Amino acid sequence: MIEKTEFIWFDGKLVPWDQAQVHVLTHCLHYGTGVFEGIRAYRGANGTSSVFRLRDHMKRYLNSAKILGLRVPYDVDELCRAVLDTLTANKLAEGYIRPLSFAGEGGVGVYPGDNPTRTIIAVWNWGAYLGAEALENGIRVKTSSFCRSHVNATMSKAKACGNYVNSVLAKMEVREDGYDEALMLDVNGFVAEATGENIFIVRNGVLKTPPLTAVLDGITRDAVFAIASDLGYAVREQAFTRDEIYTADEAFFSGTAAEITPIRELDNRVIGEGKAGPVTKAVQAAFFRAARGDAPAYADWLTPYTF
Ligand SMILES: *Cc1c(COP(=O)(O)O)cnc(C)c1O
Repeated sequence: MIEKTEFIWFDGKLVPWDQAQVHVLTHCLHYGTGVFEGIRAYRGANGTSSVFRLRDHMKRYLNSAKILGLRVPYDVDELCRAVLDTLTANKLAEGYIRPLSFAGEGGVGVYPGDNPTRTIIAVWNWGAYLGAEALENGIRVKTSSFCRSHVNATMSKAKACGNYVNSVLAKMEVREDGYDEALMLDVNGFVAEATGENIFIVRNGVLKTPPLTAVLDGITRDAVFAIASDLGYAVREQAFTRDEIYTADEAFFSGTAAEITPIRELDNRVIGEGKAGPVTKAVQAAFFRAARGDAPAYADWLTPYTF
């Protein structure tokens, strides 16, 4: 169960958590016409709380809306301000931030027409998405029989509500078979990403991740590029197949929710030594130092706030 906070930002106002409600004929509820973000705030060792890459998330959010043709009546600055106001109002030192804009009630035809766009921002305390043990020891992954959408089907660069039916199908399939997460391939059979995370493999000290064709342009993925090259590793964007993961030295997922999660098994094949490898551990440690404000080189990724 989600850990409730006091207020949710709803169309410009902070309203009590239980009163943030919509009508059942909300367009998005029927057709998935909405876009969202997942952002995290971290409390640093010195007690300062900051949001990780807030502006980058809000820029992507407005781009997702643009792809869907959804009119969001706020600019990046207003959205960033609203996130900080919501964190402050809820006195949340760290946690997860979920902005969502969606086609509201009005017509129920497929064309969203003049239905108003509604916007909410919810924040709550949320620890490790796949569990603390997953961050430490890695997870067991299975390739899903559901592939990522064709590049001209649902638009992979939009973090859109409707796109997530594809992720839910894959996640349910592998969870019910006892695995932690699903690997999804693109329609050509190449590795794409997981249900809400990008993937990296490591071989001979070189990191590899699929190009931005069928996958979401992850902000954590981008952070891994910077962190890994600062640590002296080469990072390549290149298509690869699932058997390259089977035979990789290391593999890990990146995402706001999952952070840097090592993959210890894929399709019942042990990856490398079957635990978090040295490169994964180094990237993960540097990522947490950056997010918690312990790495001055990445200070511009953080937006501090008080509460
Ligand atoms: C959100 C998301 C990711 C991870 O992106 P981050 O910006 O790192 O959180 C990866 N894949 C999909 C499909 C996503 O929705």
